[in-house]
Amino acid sequence: MPLYVTGHKIPDSDSICSAIAVAYLKNQLGIEAVACKQGDINPETRFILERFNFEEPMTKISYAGEELFITDTTDLALCPDDVLEAKVVGVVDHHKLGDLTTTTPLEGWIRPVGCSNTIVKQMFDFYGVEIPKDIAGIMLCAILSDTVIFKSPTCTKEDTKAVKELAKIAGIEDPKALGMEMFMIKSAVEGTPIRDLVMRDFKDFNMSGTKVGIGQLEVVDLSVFDDKKEALLEDMRALKEEGGRHSVLLLLTDIMKEGSELLVVSDDKAKIGKAFGKEISGESVWLEGVLSRKKQVVPFLEDVFRA
Ligand code: MN
Ligand code: MN
Repeated sequence: MPLYVTGHKIPDSDSICSAIAVAYLKNQLGIEAVACKQGDINPETRFILERFNFEEPMTKISYAGEELFITDTTDLALCPDDVLEAKVVGVVDHHKLGDLTTTTPLEGWIRPVGCSNTIVKQMFDFYGVEIPKDIAGIMLCAILSDTVIFKSPTCTKEDTKAVKELAKIAGIEDPKALGMEMFMIKSAVEGTPIRDLVMRDFKDFNMSGTKVGIGQLEVVDLSVFDDKKEALLEDMRALKEEGGRHSVLLLLTDIMKEGSELLVVSDDKAKIGKAFGKEISGESVWLEGVLSRKKQVVPFLEDVFRA
């Protein structure tokens, strides 16, 4: 029975690339491991995998009775539904500590850095295992994605150091240029069904017993959404009802202007506004300097829902 390695639901590039890298590392250490994913990959991840000639990891959503290593989350809501019936032997993550518990001791790699793949790089170094060129490439891309090409306030010296070292291994001379190429792919939203856009990077959070869904779309120019906002809001209203959510929020992040327009559909708009010290008159509010859902959005919402 192999060890399965998977990232969170609605996988992003960090989840997919860290699962591939950790599975490779485990195999090098003599533990048979298989990278998995919990859902379809997004266009950015497809670009990364094609660029470095990787197959998509297999889709697997049920792990009862199996050994599991989780990457890029410790939130139960983002883990496989039957994760508590699996034997979780390890986690690597860079988010707030979630509510996952285990029945046996585990290997824990949790650090306040910009990307899980930065920590995976440190795992390779710890075990003295060489990183192959192609794996270095996907790890580097994941770090550029999570740190918004080093612009996010979540980015640390450890992330830039990891990218520097991985670029050397992968033979990539200009990581920032590769990052921009990735974000151009992300910005190509034309022709994508509205629901796919809302769900592309969507996470549900349990905020003191209240279900709040928060999506994020990062683009190089917000004007791509000019004729889409109404449709996005309409779909967010539907999503709110379907999932019994208190609020559905969507961050439209402009990585060049370095800020986000927050679209808000909520039972209590004033409460959402309060989290950011803003009054929301319509259905959206500009948040200057906000690039990170994890660091600049979720904690402030949790504060107002806790109050
Ligand atoms: Mn992630
Ligand atoms: Mn991540």
